[in-house]
Amino acid sequence: MNYLSRTRIAALLASGPSAEEIEVPGWVRTRRDSKNVCFLELNDGSSLNGLQVIINKEGTDLQPLIERIQTGAAVIARGHLVESPGAGQSVELVCRDLTLVGECPAESYPLQKKRHSFEFLREIAHLRGRTNTFGAVMRVRNCLSRAVHQFYQERGFLYLHTPIITAGDAEGAGALFQVTTLDVENPPRLGSATPAGATSGDAARSGAAAGPVDYGRDFFGSRTFLTVSGQLNAEAYATALDRVYTFGPTFRAENSNTTRHLAEFWMIEPEMAFCDLEGNMELAEQFVRYLLRDVLEKCPEDMTFFDKRIEPGIVESLRGVAETQFRHLSYTEAISALEKSGETFEYAPSWGIDLQTEHEKYLTEKYAGGPVIVTDYPREIKAFYMKHNEDGKTVRAMDVLVPRLGEIIGGSQREDRLDALEASIDRLGLDRETYRWYLDLRRFGSVPHSGFGLGFERLVRYVTGMQNIRDVIPFPRAVGNADF
Ligand code: ATP
Ligand code: MN
Repeated sequence: MNYLSRTRIAALLASGPSAEEIEVPGWVRTRRDSKNVCFLELNDGSSLNGLQVIINKEGTDLQPLIERIQTGAAVIARGHLVESPGAGQSVELVCRDLTLVGECPAESYPLQKKRHSFEFLREIAHLRGRTNTFGAVMRVRNCLSRAVHQFYQERGFLYLHTPIITAGDAEGAGALFQVTTLDVENPPRLGSATPAGATSGDAARSGAAAGPVDYGRDFFGSRTFLTVSGQLNAEAYATALDRVYTFGPTFRAENSNTTRHLAEFWMIEPEMAFCDLEGNMELAEQFVRYLLRDVLEKCPEDMTFFDKRIEPGIVESLRGVAETQFRHLSYTEAISALEKSGETFEYAPSWGIDLQTEHEKYLTEKYAGGPVIVTDYPREIKAFYMKHNEDGKTVRAMDVLVPRLGEIIGGSQREDRLDALEASIDRLGLDRETYRWYLDLRRFGSVPHSGFGLGFERLVRYVTGMQNIRDVIPFPRAVGNADF
């Protein structure tokens, strides 16, 4: 079992017949028997298609072993690759010898040959990677992550690891997960003489009488949370190293049961110094098109599977986006197009509202017939750090919208003027002290800079056509569920 030099099934299927005997490990997906021959479909996760293994029952002493091989069993098959007479496969293995590495009792194995619902598979997330769909999702996910790094590395961006534990809510992005080592049942409190951990904690137990929790005695000496975005930290290094990107875990205590929200997800956030909104839009467009081209080129089999089984037409739709130049539209133009559309929307469009998915779909699918970048949103619906336009009403924000999905990227040129940024922080009632270091970036050698965020699971969902975001991450964390 030489691990590193072993050829995997994906490579075998792409190769021709072999004169030498080879050894192929894998898990049995199906087993079929005729009178004299046993057919096993072996899969090792390297490709959607498995390798057909043919065992001639006559004249071998494998018969007792074969009887014990069931769906899910781990085996190593040895034999020769021959040209396959069957349709849909190039080669098959004529098996001379077989080792049963791990048996799989059919009575209790939850994955049977029939199709299981995604809801059921979520309950056995530790085994669902063995199905065609989840194998394909994880391979596409892997391909996209590699493409993300490749895209930025080719352009001289530095991969930046931003903190997972932070002291502030970066942008009011959503509900936070608090991180603490205090005893949540009996925390130290301000204005209380009782030391933390005292058992005579009458004051602590009757919450009303007790003072506020003394976070000065928490692990970090202040209240801390899991990060909701690495952007502010990325800005600090972009204004030192010119161009950086983050690709890391992000947490939001989204207390809603949607098919688009996870509590733990991955986000990609590039940030560029000496770059205005135009440059930002160009990078975002190049990025999306690059990712789609890459996955269509590198995962044709898996993408065909999604097209056939999950979302018909998806390949053509993605190819369209990969090959189309994105149209630019200001928010004001977008609202006016929506108002004139004659469509009935659930949410009536009017200047000042945030665009809803139904609006974004109309703009991409009907109005523009392709991807759209909407810019210059009202400042009231965007984050405090976005650069104000001269009109005093809008900010240099840009959202990239694509057909079938709506928003895939949200970004902006950042406010680089100290006084304007301070004014925004004050206007929103945020604490200047929390943002002291962030304001420093405007105090010392400030430059126009821009960036955006792309939620990785939203991307994987878009590319695979999977309905539920919980089915594009190996072990989903969402409200009410952190199993596995
Ligand atoms: P939404 O309105 O869909 O909740 P948002 O406005 O909260 O999104 P941002 O704060 O702009 O999103 O976050 C940046 C990106 O992170 C989003 O475009 C999206 O791709 C992704 N994202 C946000 N929240 C989640 C989540 N709970 N699960 C997965 N991805 C998310
Ligand atoms: Mn949200």
